[in-house]
Order: sequence, then C-alpha cells, then structure tokens
Amino acid sequence: MKTMDEQVRAFGTKIKTRFAPSPTGMMHIGSVRTALYAYIVARQNNGSFSLRIEDTDRSRFIEGSPEDIVENMNWLGLNFDEAPIFQSERKELYQQYAKELVEKGVAYEDEGAIWFKMPAEGKVTYTDLIGNRRIEFDNKTQKDFVLLKSDGFPTYHLAHVVDDHLMETNPVIRAEEWLSSTPKHILTFQAFGWQVPQYAHLPLILGTDRSKLSKRHGAKAVSEFRKDGYLPEAILNYMAFLGWTPPSGKELLNLGEMILEFKLEDVHVAPAVFDITKLEWMNGEYIRKMSGEELTQRLQEFLVDHPNRDKIAPVVPLVKERIKKLSDFVPLTDFIFEKPEYDIEVFNKIKVENQKNVLEKISQTMESFEKPWTAEEFEQAFRKLAEDLGIKVGDMFQLIRVAVSGQLVTPPLFESIKIIGEEETLNRVKEVVSKYPEF
Ligand code: GLU
Repeated sequence: MKTMDEQVRAFGTKIKTRFAPSPTGMMHIGSVRTALYAYIVARQNNGSFSLRIEDTDRSRFIEGSPEDIVENMNWLGLNFDEAPIFQSERKELYQQYAKELVEKGVAYEDEGAIWFKMPAEGKVTYTDLIGNRRIEFDNKTQKDFVLLKSDGFPTYHLAHVVDDHLMETNPVIRAEEWLSSTPKHILTFQAFGWQVPQYAHLPLILGTDRSKLSKRHGAKAVSEFRKDGYLPEAILNYMAFLGWTPPSGKELLNLGEMILEFKLEDVHVAPAVFDITKLEWMNGEYIRKMSGEELTQRLQEFLVDHPNRDKIAPVVPLVKERIKKLSDFVPLTDFIFEKPEYDIEVFNKIKVENQKNVLEKISQTMESFEKPWTAEEFEQAFRKLAEDLGIKVGDMFQLIRVAVSGQLVTPPLFESIKIIGEEETLNRVKEVVSKYPEF
C-alpha cells in the first residue's frame, strides 16, 4: 500500500494546503488542530499553506472575525505563504462556474438558485487519508443540491470545489463533519473535468463526557486562552495530540519536531477528547522548561498593564514551579509588590489560639534580627518561638505567611520577604498586630 506521501506526490508536484475557516465568530480552539495539521503537511513537503476566509454566508458573518483568525494564527506561529483569499470577493467567479455546469447539463436553474443534478445511478468512492478508509456512497441515496443561492453567493459545496481547484489544494484537510458531503464535491470536481483532490477528514473532538465539545468543557476562543495565559506552543502541542500520538512517544513536541514526526495517515479515526486539565498541565510543563529570563520576558509581554511589570524578574524564579498559566502569576505574587488586603477569615483558618499575642511576638522577634536577615536565623528563631509558645512549627510559619501576604498560599516565604524588604515586612506585621482582628 502506498503511503500518504507517495499517493499525494503521485497526484501533483507541489503540496498545497489551506485553512478555510468560516468567519462566524472568534477563532475556536478546535479549529487550531485543523489549521495545524494543514500547516505541518505543507511544511514537511516543502509546500505552501494559505488562508481562505469562507465568508459567503453573509447572515452568519461576524465583524472582526477574519482579523481575529489572522491575529491568532500569527500568535500561534502558523504563518501563511500567500495573501488570504476572501470568498465574498469572488462572487462573479462562482457564478461563471455555476453557469458552466448548467451549460454542461449537469446543473439546472430554478427560481433563483442553481442546483447540481444528482445522477440517478452510480457510486462515488474514494479513500480517505485518515485511517485509509474506503468510503462509498450510492448516488441514489443523494439528493440534488444547491450550488449557487438566490442571493448570488455560492454554497460551500461549489465554493470549495472551485477554490480548491484553482488553489491546487491537495490534500484537502478538514473536519469530519464534511465527510458526508464528499460525494457532492467529488461529483462536482468530475463534472468540471477536474482532478479530485485527496481528502483527510479529521476525527471529531468531544468533551470529557463524550458529548459535543462546547464552552462547558472549557473549549473557547483561542484569544480567550491567550488572555488566560496559555502559551502558543502548549496549545499547538496539546491540539496536535488530539487524535495523533507521535511515534517517538514524546510528551512535549515543538512545531519543528511535529513537522518531523507527523503523518496524516497516523491520525486516528476515533473521536478525540479535549481535556482542559491536560492542556493546563502541559502549559505548566512549558513554563517550567523555560529559563528564568525567558519566562520573565514572556510574563512581561503578557502583563502589559501590570503596574510592577519592570520589577517581576526576581520574583519569577520563586513561582516558576508553581504556575500553570501566565495569569497565575498575578494572584500569587501581588502581595510582593503591594501591601495586601487582610481578612480575619484567612487568619481563622490557622488553628492557633491567642493569635494577636502570637503575632505580637512574631513582630518583636523580627525586630530583634540584625539586617540583613538570613534564612537560617529566621528559621531558627521562629522554630524556637513556636516551641516556647507550644505552637506547631507549620502553624507558626503559616501565621507569618498570612501576616506578610494576606494569603495561605505563596511562593517560598523567606525568599518573598527578601524581595518585599525587611522594613516593609515588619511594617506589615506591626500593622496587623495593631488592627487585629479588624483590618
Ligand atoms: N468553512 C468550512 C468550515 O469552517 C471549511 C471546511 C474546509 O476546510 O473546506 O468548516
């Protein structure tokens, strides 16, 4: 059996793929996989990759959607080789081609629309590149279908065939939902006398409960993932793995490695499951893999409006192991840059009696330290204080943590204090003592 590469190479000299989204909203996470696979196939064959905006259904067009698609494709690093094609600008072209089919006697016009006439007999068969599936349709089971609507715009069926012929697309990589329309497309290619491209229908993406993927499963627009602090490389990596496992078995693959390892024929036929917790985990892995400098730079790019953007560098090593998304940086570290808001409820979570009294002792102990404070002295002094007061050591450090940060979870305490500064730390503790229990 021929491999996909051999089959496709036999078909044409140059591999051309495209991403052909309908601009009916912001670019959705699910469509990243379609775009990515098409991009990879072009790159690994030294071919070209382009964008076609399928905006012929004017009632579903959403303003700003094409711009959002282009912006997110750039952000993901999936670059196009040619200027984008907008189908709405090619109306006359489709009209000419629809008329050509009427003249050939394979299409007919009625009250405004032009229809493709389905042959009464015969079969359409083809082999889908995904799973090497032999797909067969009986023409008897198919109905006539609209090529050109009464508003003069083409349907997807006509526009796909005309454009992918003119763009010399091969293979056509698209979502599973189009598989059932493939006989219409193949018959239309044949009616024009054009070579039929190869098709790769990608498996469905479901939610973890195996229902249709939706917002409920955390599947949203790419721009929202970006705002949440996901990295493009993690999104590409995770989406690539929905329905494909690299032969090397590696868990993390960058785009270059995917280009080396990916094969369309290795994509699974069975639906894939989108699991946001796995994506989040993977994002955290990418964060941990970065150097401190790189992560600082990425955070600075991400935190455009952060008032302390220029001061984050020393804090980054403290959080690198703890954050999964760039956005996690802010709630975890705000107390380092600004005095926190205190809430007695947070203190109440620590099971220490006479907290005000203990806090006062903490403040006095801190005052007794020589500057600069050292980690050893800090540790020893508070262990001793815990012992003297009959408090668990863990509770003692939790109380200090809350007094300094207002929260129960922080990056390492002493390192954080060193960045906050001894003076400021002591002022906070003193203020807590004086105001306790009402802040
Ligand atoms: N506009 C179609 C969609 O977004 C594209 C299908 C294709 O790639 O041909 O589903």
